[in-house]
Amino acid sequence: MDSGDEQLFAEQREKFGRIARLIDEATEIVICAHTDPDGDALGSGLALEQIISQHWEGKHVTSLLADDAPVPRLYRFLPGADCFVRASDYAGTPDLFIVVDLSVAPRLNRAQAVLERSAHVAIMDHHPCTAPFGDVALIRPDAAAAGVIIAEFGLFLGAHITPEIANCLFCAIVTDTGRFQYQNADSEAFECASMLVDAGASPSMISLNVYQSFRLAYLHLESVVMGRIVTFDHGRIAYSYATRNDLERTGARPDECDGLIDVVRSVEGSEVALFLKELPDGRVRGNLRSKGKHDISGVARLLGGGGHKAAAGFTSEDGIDATLATVLPQLQAVLHAADEGRDVVPTNPQMKLELGKGV
Ligand code: 5GP
Ligand code: MN
Repeated sequence: MDSGDEQLFAEQREKFGRIARLIDEATEIVICAHTDPDGDALGSGLALEQIISQHWEGKHVTSLLADDAPVPRLYRFLPGADCFVRASDYAGTPDLFIVVDLSVAPRLNRAQAVLERSAHVAIMDHHPCTAPFGDVALIRPDAAAAGVIIAEFGLFLGAHITPEIANCLFCAIVTDTGRFQYQNADSEAFECASMLVDAGASPSMISLNVYQSFRLAYLHLESVVMGRIVTFDHGRIAYSYATRNDLERTGARPDECDGLIDVVRSVEGSEVALFLKELPDGRVRGNLRSKGKHDISGVARLLGGGGHKAAAGFTSEDGIDATLATVLPQLQAVLHAADEGRDVVPTNPQMKLELGKGV
């Protein structure tokens, strides 16, 4: 551990102490992660709920879902997943609202109203954030997953990490690191994972549920998306998409599509990847990934989204073609700026690509 790490951990310990004091003083506590929850959002929130419930007596802890949609099918195996309450069905007035795996309030969707009537707010997140809110904001963009922070909070408290908590946290870390394959898979993530396996987490059970339990309908959609992958800019940019019609034809559901960006990013030689999915209401959801040094979060922000340097997302009101025409030149600009040693991302939304030319 170098001195930078030590300072970071001292800061984390100080914030853990403040969050623990907020929990001491609260009775009604809610925990909520971001809209369109992924394995980290769900696993971290459920683990935190269980840590608080068993470490403190007399707390009433509720895990909220930001959206009205149910828990995505692949994550329903998580211990406690059947106890989520939809934020729009929650009528309480919390003493403490703990925001997990996000730090921009609009990403709380329906839970924003609950946040506004909460007496205190704490954030435990790993997304880069320029305007943190709440009484305590523990935001560590260097942490591979929110699950890493929650695991360390458990250790800080001296809480008993049960096999159920360990499975929730292992799922959080394995999914946010892309099965320990992405650039964020650092020694801290491996150390946490090791501690969680010692505490009873089952990596094979989690892999079976998250990576080997796809419905055939989804796999048929994956083959459509795979067959449609295009590379661009000498193979450095790979992209593909799924239309509403593809989903209808194959019978796949929008909440099953999280892994499709991984299919696109697997192209040899590609440096950045884009996957677009047309939503039932006609909007387009975009996933962006960088496989190396490039920071694609600025492109996501330009489209009204956000995320990390290497993994970001956005939602566009335009159709698939128009979104491609906006995003592809922006990605190209990121690569070219890096080639020329510039790190400023050009942000000219007028810059459009004439599809069919140069693709
Ligand atoms: P994904 O592409 O898997 O949906 O998201 C990749 C990362 O970017 C995740 O950490 C996710 O929380 C973040 N992200 C995705 N979409 C948005 C968005 O619209 N706004 C912000 N601020 N972050 C996003
Ligand atoms: Mn996360």
